[in-house]
Amino acid sequence: MILKKSDADVFNLVQLELKRQQNGVELIASENFTSIAVMEAVGSVLTNKYAEGYPNRRYYGGCEVVDQVEQLAIDRLKKIFPIAYANVQPHSGSQANAALLFAILKPGDAILGMDLSMGGHLTHGSPVNFSGNTYRSHFYRVDSETGLIDYNYVAEQAKKIKPQVIVCGASAYSRDIDYIAFRNIADSVGAFLWADIAHPAGLIAKKLLNDPFAHCHFVTSTTHKTLRGPRGGIIMMGKDFENPWGRKDTKGKVTMMSYILDMAIFPGTQGGPLEHVIAGKAVAFGEILTPAFEIYAKQIIKNAQAMAQSFINMGYKVVSNGTDNHLLLLDLRSKQLTGKEAEAILQKIDITTNKNMVPYDTQSPFITSGIRIGTPAITTRGLQEKDMPFITEKIDQALSHHSDDKRLEDIKKSIHDFMRQFPLYPEL
Ligand code: PLP
Repeated sequence: MILKKSDADVFNLVQLELKRQQNGVELIASENFTSIAVMEAVGSVLTNKYAEGYPNRRYYGGCEVVDQVEQLAIDRLKKIFPIAYANVQPHSGSQANAALLFAILKPGDAILGMDLSMGGHLTHGSPVNFSGNTYRSHFYRVDSETGLIDYNYVAEQAKKIKPQVIVCGASAYSRDIDYIAFRNIADSVGAFLWADIAHPAGLIAKKLLNDPFAHCHFVTSTTHKTLRGPRGGIIMMGKDFENPWGRKDTKGKVTMMSYILDMAIFPGTQGGPLEHVIAGKAVAFGEILTPAFEIYAKQIIKNAQAMAQSFINMGYKVVSNGTDNHLLLLDLRSKQLTGKEAEAILQKIDITTNKNMVPYDTQSPFITSGIRIGTPAITTRGLQEKDMPFITEKIDQALSHHSDDKRLEDIKKSIHDFMRQFPLYPEL
């Protein structure tokens, strides 16, 4: 408790955040509660070390220990996924994506990604992001009836645009992805195929969803969502993609793609790696390799499906009518509520969600017509399918009686009582 003595202001804020996390129901699909072991590694002396470069090829002395830390993270990641190449240095998912595009595209090249309003991510070509500024971005969509990716439209767009890269993967898509269909489309126009598995990576790790590694040239992810590690990113390549994808110079010399990717992270887009975070990634990867994580990953999906069904039973519209993964999207248009309003109402009862556009939304991204709900964090706390109706009913009660402050206060109290059964960080 040195922080308490040295900086009471920051200490108190950390305590307040701990209480917030302990009392409430965390339903943000991109969040999770990492282990205390991961947090210890991230809070360790490794934060003091500069280590520009890669294990055994650094630009600083004194890297003999951090070399082992980083190599351990890489080796463990290679046991989790069927990959030949891994870079564990990206500071975040966005950094991983920026480096990948920097490695494989030239400014002005074309990228085809999922529209942000249909569930895609900013780094997949949004005009407000580097990806939409540096490259010519084009988008595909989901079917307005089914909520599923419209693969025919992807193929049409690909033929028209002839992109250098097609990205599959999303921030708010509740169904599995057909990587073979995407690969066929990519091959038909000579494009690279990139999967951004930031959201479902932990489920893919346990083979609960389709395997992107056999079909995609590049795979990026965050480490803090379903992988339950510290905040960060990773870049990977499956076993078949090292070459011939390397770049040939005029004399026919091939530069390995792994080298091009490494160079795109450092010195291309980042400086010194965060070795303390990389240590946290190594700890999380070790946890993912245990049988307990498989039980956890399966439970995430069971919980999401139970929640989706419960909402459907109560008359809510769930985009795509259910979920294959860890998240669901509630379309609130029939409830005469915007996503922004729903998020604020649920905040009053200490249920944290985020407003989210639904496919073909007519509201702006700041207002939206839906909320995104995910189960990775509550599953870490130990909630199971049988606990989902309690949560969904509280959500329904709050949304239906949102002007009744007394009622909202009572609901909040019942939620705090309920969540006490699932202690979070009792050691802290
Ligand atoms: N890619 C996808 C699909 C995401 O959903 C996210 C974050 O939500 C990212 C990339 C970016 O990750 P970060 O917030 O670590 O930059």
